[in-house]
Amino acid sequence: GAVADLLLAVDGVTVAFDGFKALDGFSLTLQRGETRVVIGPNGAGKSTLCDTIIGRVRAASGRILFRGEDIGALPEQTIVARGICRKFQAPGVLPTLSVGDNMALAARRDRRWWKSFGFGIPAAERTSVDAALAMIGLADRRDAPAGELSHGEKQWLEIGMVVATGAELLLLDEPTAGMGPAETARTAELIRSLGEGRTVLVIDHDMSFVEQLAAPVTVMHQGRFLKQGSIAEVRADPEVAAVYLGH
Ligand code: ADP
Ligand code: MG
Repeated sequence: GAVADLLLAVDGVTVAFDGFKALDGFSLTLQRGETRVVIGPNGAGKSTLCDTIIGRVRAASGRILFRGEDIGALPEQTIVARGICRKFQAPGVLPTLSVGDNMALAARRDRRWWKSFGFGIPAAERTSVDAALAMIGLADRRDAPAGELSHGEKQWLEIGMVVATGAELLLLDEPTAGMGPAETARTAELIRSLGEGRTVLVIDHDMSFVEQLAAPVTVMHQGRFLKQGSIAEVRADPEVAAVYLGH
């Protein structure tokens, strides 16, 4: 039923920076297996929403429930261990490590590995790494230093890394930042292919990208909920148009 399928509930969350409310009583629920897009103009509070879900920023009020448990006071590492993983706007791959080794580190879900790498990847791990690399279309770049990838390829590698952690909830903050139209289209295809068993929250402000995702859209403005619907409904909404034109 609807309650059993509820994975995440952001419930009336307010986040203030020196009195400025980046989130202002914001609420959002995600059902298991759904892909949701959150859009809004620059400064709407989208990245703050991600920061708050993952435990990097604390809510002044409101609750964040993941699988029915309040995670609002947990440290980020504990939240990640429970099954939420976030991709930042800028790619964060380790440039001197190979593409395959970056993926293997993500699969281990242990932040310490990211800093103290200096050993081979056990054979058993290589299989899952290969599958993840195939999914993002970088199987043939496995032994290349990640720093040699194009900007778009780095973003795809990082999406693959988020998937490789095995997290149930994936937070993708502007996965198309810095991409041209062809790379953006490929990113939309990749996110659509993430498929069953994963719940994905995609944040962006690029309407053409969002259109290609073909997922329900939540519009934020000034830290508040503004609208929810299909991209067509949202695009046709005069209030949404006013918010976008005003920036
Ligand atoms: P978006 O991702 O939608 O562009 P953000 O969540 O990054 O918006 O920011 C929302 C608002 O909160 C902006 O006005 C931003 O300047 C402010 N803000 C975000 N993080 C901080 C911070 N750490 N300190 C002070 N203000 C912040
Ligand atoms: Mg942002």
